[in-house]
Amino acid sequence: MSRLLIRGDPTIPRGLPMAFIGPDELYCEVHYFKYGAAPVYLVRYMVENTAPRWSCTCPDFIYRRAASGKMCKHCQGCVIFKTLMPTVFVQNHINQITQDNYNKMRVTPIGEPLSVFGQQVYIRVEICGEPGYIGYIANVWRCYTCGGSRGIRFLKGKQCKHIACYSYSLIHNDYEQYCHNMEQTRFVTACNRQRRSGRTHWQRFTL
Ligand SMILES: [Zn+2]
Ligand SMILES: [Zn+2]
Repeated sequence: MSRLLIRGDPTIPRGLPMAFIGPDELYCEVHYFKYGAAPVYLVRYMVENTAPRWSCTCPDFIYRRAASGKMCKHCQGCVIFKTLMPTVFVQNHINQITQDNYNKMRVTPIGEPLSVFGQQVYIRVEICGEPGYIGYIANVWRCYTCGGSRGIRFLKGKQCKHIACYSYSLIHNDYEQYCHNMEQTRFVTACNRQRRSGRTHWQRFTL
């Protein structure tokens, strides 16, 4: 069995009523609990007329939980994340982000299938957190920050937040500021530096 196999945490309950965790809004990016580092789901918490309101971009929430006012495991994970003693598992899988970053990422096509592209590119994407080093290389989209050592494995054929940001920037000029074309040698050097320092997303789940 692969050492890299990622397991979820079956102790996180799902389908519970929306939990109240205080008056402050909360925004988080939640890495796939079961399948690895990328893409991410985006979770939001707010209080409306004293009622707690959670939402998540995962299919379970959108198609099942939302209508019945219940929480998916990612929302529940954020509840655990905000307790005084969060588990190591949720600490490794959840990042709290700003409302601004949530709004920026929310509109990009995170999780949609990787597209076919016309040219080789090497790009640094700085939308939120660690810079993402993405490329369309040898006819495949890769993110060396999210996807594993060859840039593919943990993407599972879907757009991580960095590739989604770049896709979005091709249509929306105001996202160009987050994407920087790089010369190949500098790109490779930057990827290696990020991996050696242990700051890639996938290393947090596989070490
Ligand atoms: Zn969810
Ligand atoms: Zn990425």
